Amino acid sequence: MFDVIVVGLGGVGSATCYALAKKGLKVLGIDQHQPPHGFGSSHGDTRIIRKSYFEHPSYVPLLKSAYSLWQEIESRSQTQLYYPTGLLEIGPGDGDVIQGILRSAAEHHLPIDKWSMQKAQERYPGIGGDPNWQAVFERDAGYLLVEKCIATYLSQAEQLGATLRYHQKMISWAGESHGVQVRLQHETIHAKKLVLCAGPWAQQSLAKYDLPLKVLRKHMYWYQCDTQDYLQSHGFPCFFFDTPDGYFYGFPEHGTYGLKVARHSGGTPVEQVDGTHNRDQEDQQLVEKFLSQYLPNVLGPQANPSALTRWSGCYYTMTPDENFIVDRLPDYPQVVVIAGLSGHGFKFTSVLGEIASHLAMETDCGLDIDFLGINRYSTSKGFAP
Ligand SMILES: Cc1cc2nc3c(=O)[nH]c(=O)nc-3n(C[C@H](O)[C@H](O)[C@H](O)COP(=O)(O)OP(=O)(O)OC[C@H]3O[C@@H](n4cnc5c(N)ncnc54)[C@H](O)[C@@H]3O)c2cc1C
Repeated sequence: MFDVIVVGLGGVGSATCYALAKKGLKVLGIDQHQPPHGFGSSHGDTRIIRKSYFEHPSYVPLLKSAYSLWQEIESRSQTQLYYPTGLLEIGPGDGDVIQGILRSAAEHHLPIDKWSMQKAQERYPGIGGDPNWQAVFERDAGYLLVEKCIATYLSQAEQLGATLRYHQKMISWAGESHGVQVRLQHETIHAKKLVLCAGPWAQQSLAKYDLPLKVLRKHMYWYQCDTQDYLQSHGFPCFFFDTPDGYFYGFPEHGTYGLKVARHSGGTPVEQVDGTHNRDQEDQQLVEKFLSQYLPNVLGPQANPSALTRWSGCYYTMTPDENFIVDRLPDYPQVVVIAGLSGHGFKFTSVLGEIASHLAMETDCGLDIDFLGINRYSTSKGFAP
């Protein structure tokens, strides 16, 4: 019998299998596809990682731990996953983003540089923005190679003895007096514990609880630039802008496709999560409007959208307060749930894997995760708060 079954081997599940296998447990990982794949939430080359978290200072201790766990897997696998480009964050000085960064940095003594727009433009001539806005530069930030992170965690988990099964879909699960049973198409498997990390399919894996999760379709765009302004090799960083049209972010030009940019705000609610996406003209227009206003040399003076080299769709799984769900199920404590990463979870997957392993083993992870508890979403069909 397995100690733990992990369902979903994307960002969270791959790291969870590794963390459990490292602790010597007998682990079975199951995925309906073969990760890394392009059907869920963990594809498209890159994910930003940053520490002065504008969303809430409570995430900072988790991030500190996430950074050291990324270092650990890099050195164990001898693979570079993290690229420390720095992150330039720009917006109104009294806006949620700049205020949130300053609050997290102050509370946790994090090093940041505060610049006027003029200073930011002297440093990075390719950027624009309201001259009254403020810029913050986070040196200790950059990006992770998303697919490579998952592939690395899975291969390291296997080397540590985890059994991984691909193209196997969990049809249902049920709690038993001393464990769980997981029903696949052709068999039922028993284990002591279950970790559910199904990403945008979380709602289906937890159907009976009717959690208020909303899946949004999001889009990523790559543009080849006619200038050296945005090259990573010339020191251009990752960027995040708080604009009147919403939040936009992206990555310096590197690799084959050029500069990557996307809209963090917005998104289209979807009912059917099947990994197929349609282009969204309105979203692309907003992204290109953002580029012409704030990174004007990407499209050039002709505002040339044919510089687009690649596009991809992806899913955010949103909770109402946009904080994750990281907990055991109150009515089945042998079942751990990591869900609702709300479009900002990849940077945490190293530490979420570690936390999931502690929740499964009922040991103390040493981090405050009370603010991510599932009881804040007790539902008509679910458990008492
Ligand atoms: C466009 C975009 C940009 C983003 N940018 C950032 C960023 O810059 N920084 C950041 O930190 N985060 C970012 N995020 C968020 C981050 O990527 C996600 O929060 C994270 O990747 C989610 O990981 P996951 O493991 O929850 O889901 P996934 O990686 O999608 O994994 C879920 C897995 O579960 C499997 N599965 C589901 N149901 C079943 C079943 N019944 N049986 C078997 N297998 C099943 C699926 O096949 C899948 O492999 C971004 C997300 C998107 C879409």
